[in-house]
Amino acid sequence: MSNALLKVSDLEVRYGGILALKGVSFEVNKGEVVSLIGANGAGKTTTLRALSGMIPFSGGVEFQGQNLAKVPSHQIVRLGLAHSPEGRGVFPNLTVAENLQMGAFSRKDKAEIARNLEHCYELFPRMKERLKQKAGTLSGGEQQMLAISRALMAQPTLLLLDEPSLGLAPLIVAQIFEIIKKVNKEGVTILLVEQNARMALKVSNRAYVVETGKITLSGKGSELLNDPRVVASYLGGH
Ligand code: ATP
Repeated sequence: MSNALLKVSDLEVRYGGILALKGVSFEVNKGEVVSLIGANGAGKTTTLRALSGMIPFSGGVEFQGQNLAKVPSHQIVRLGLAHSPEGRGVFPNLTVAENLQMGAFSRKDKAEIARNLEHCYELFPRMKERLKQKAGTLSGGEQQMLAISRALMAQPTLLLLDEPSLGLAPLIVAQIFEIIKKVNKEGVTILLVEQNARMALKVSNRAYVVETGKITLSGKGSELLNDPRVVASYLGGH
């Protein structure tokens, strides 16, 4: 029996006439950081959207042994799968505090929610200072931190992170990757989509290369960092 937390088999997604995912299969085991890397438009975001129930798909998606095919997205969050989406998706006209509350919508235990909030403030001290501020007035890095915090407020077993480093300055990117490592060490399994392949591979146990809707290569993060095909196509050739 496979001990995969997430098992994806032959995932296909269609946008009208375009087959954006052409049979993607991969696994994420409990405790891992797994990355999907690949060029713009390869299908990475589409994969995450399918997993969290945002778009219809065909093929198999099993999370903790449960088939997610017909499960609505709000229910998927309750099962322990949270998604920090591409473009962050914070609600710009709501305050930081309200955005965080939205992340806990699936939960009822007030004391536990309060503990999770404290934990987010520990991870991102700036968050506490900005609680009453509208999310739309935060810097890009702060919005990314809010998006991750909001997903963590669902107390996920598996966290999907889509392009957390996009458009951020190198110093902030380094902080985001430190947080990814920390959150993973605390027991959250992570599926990461990144254009910054080098940073992603450094923090990943394993990774998959996605090219035009298919997985073309997979391996340990450390191995792929030195794989000539990955180096040539995704690591700037050196
Ligand atoms: P990026 O990092 O640029 O988002 P990606 O690897 O995440 O790239 P996807 O966004 O998943 O790629 O896109 C996969 C393919 O599906 C692309 O050809 C894209 O043009 C197409 N696509 C994505 N979203 C839609 C949509 N809503 N309608 C039609 N086609 C789409």
